[in-house]
Amino acid sequence: MTNKNKPQRDPVEVKRQRAEYQRRWRAQHPEYNVRYLEKMKRLDPARWAERKRKDAEASRCYRENMQRADPEWRQRNVDYQRRYRLQFPEKQDEYQRRYRATHPHAKAASIKRWHAQHPLRNRNYTGRYRAKKAGVPPDRIEQVDLGEVVQAADGRCGLCHQPIAPGEPMEFDHIVPIASGGSHTLSNLQLAHVRCNRRRR
Ligand SMILES: [Zn+2]
Repeated sequence: MTNKNKPQRDPVEVKRQRAEYQRRWRAQHPEYNVRYLEKMKRLDPARWAERKRKDAEASRCYRENMQRADPEWRQRNVDYQRRYRLQFPEKQDEYQRRYRATHPHAKAASIKRWHAQHPLRNRNYTGRYRAKKAGVPPDRIEQVDLGEVVQAADGRCGLCHQPIAPGEPMEFDHIVPIASGGSHTLSNLQLAHVRCNRRRR
């Protein structure tokens, strides 16, 4: 009977108020938040990863919504951030210094991540670099899409013509070896078992 007299609380509003309260509490207790996050990172890496993923997802949603509501938002935001950095260069320096100090392996890790995500491109850089060092003229060095070499191989070794099993070590082999005047080009590359390629050398 009292329920009828009580004003119904809007669940969305309740949720918003709770979030607002939590936000204020965290702002007033920054040291607690840092300690809590560090503990989570150490004791529960899976939950930490999930949290980071969710945070990234949330900011992506936010950016997309802002962008949709106002197409010029991104540019204005970029301009604002640039002005802010110019106005307070020492803040930027301080931020970067602190980040590097608290994340000593971040840079190496980010490079490593890039190479892990782009294995073929990584190997192509190596191949082009080696070809250049071996004295191949620049007009016979292409930026080869190694994915195309893999597709052309259709899962077979170019040397023994046997299938390359999943996970079996393979290499990109120059059909005419660089040492014999071969080019670093798509048409001169094939996929080969590491063992076949080594035997050939
Ligand atoms: Zn082979």
